[in-house]
Amino acid sequence: MSDRGIGARLEGVRATLPPGVELVAVSKFHPVEALREAYEAGQRVFGESRVQELLSKTEAMPADVQWHFIGHLQRNKARMLVGRVALIESIDSLQLLALVDRLAEERGVVQRVLLEAHVAAETTKSGFEPSALLEWFRSGGYRTLRATHICGLMGMATNTDDEARIDADFAALAGLMADIRAAAPDLRGFDVLSMGMSDDYPAAIRHGATHVRVGTAIFGERDY
Ligand SMILES: *Cc1c(COP(=O)(O)O)cnc(C)c1O
Repeated sequence: MSDRGIGARLEGVRATLPPGVELVAVSKFHPVEALREAYEAGQRVFGESRVQELLSKTEAMPADVQWHFIGHLQRNKARMLVGRVALIESIDSLQLLALVDRLAEERGVVQRVLLEAHVAAETTKSGFEPSALLEWFRSGGYRTLRATHICGLMGMATNTDDEARIDADFAALAGLMADIRAAAPDLRGFDVLSMGMSDDYPAAIRHGATHVRVGTAIFGERDY
């Protein structure tokens, strides 16, 4: 990690992104001062992985920030989040999806979400199994949603130095996106593919990522 400031590192990452690829600055575990530096350098989209941390940062940051929730969302915390974030990227079960839909309807909002698909080798990572997800779309399950807009998919590649495996994972996510579109031709606004992190986002972009989620390369190492 270089000792340049956050603004300079942000510029460095941005310079590598083709037009149209959205940068989600993953600020989890970093203090509000770090987010402010990024904000002053023009960043408006931030990703956080814990509900309380996100909510306290929303209070401390300007209102035009778009917050993305990217962590595992516990059911008992969904109520605090729905209607408060631009995008929940990490819907990982049909139960959670149904709950978010109900809460959004109660609150009178439409919640934008991504469904998290699991293609990585690690079994610890969460997300839908791709063939089950495709089957759910094919059977029209999404048509029952009343207050949720499924904007696309989120995923992670295997955490490995094996570039072929990383390529295969991103290709699988892009392929799943295309298969879902073909299986559910009446789906509208299903065009976000969020994949790629500090170590692998260039590969994700080659495979069609529309959003990359970059933390360490902007903010430095996290103190967990
Ligand atoms: C932490 C995190 C990131 C960012 O990871 P870096 O390696 O710091 O860029 C991206 N996506 C998700 C889901 C994360 O939890």
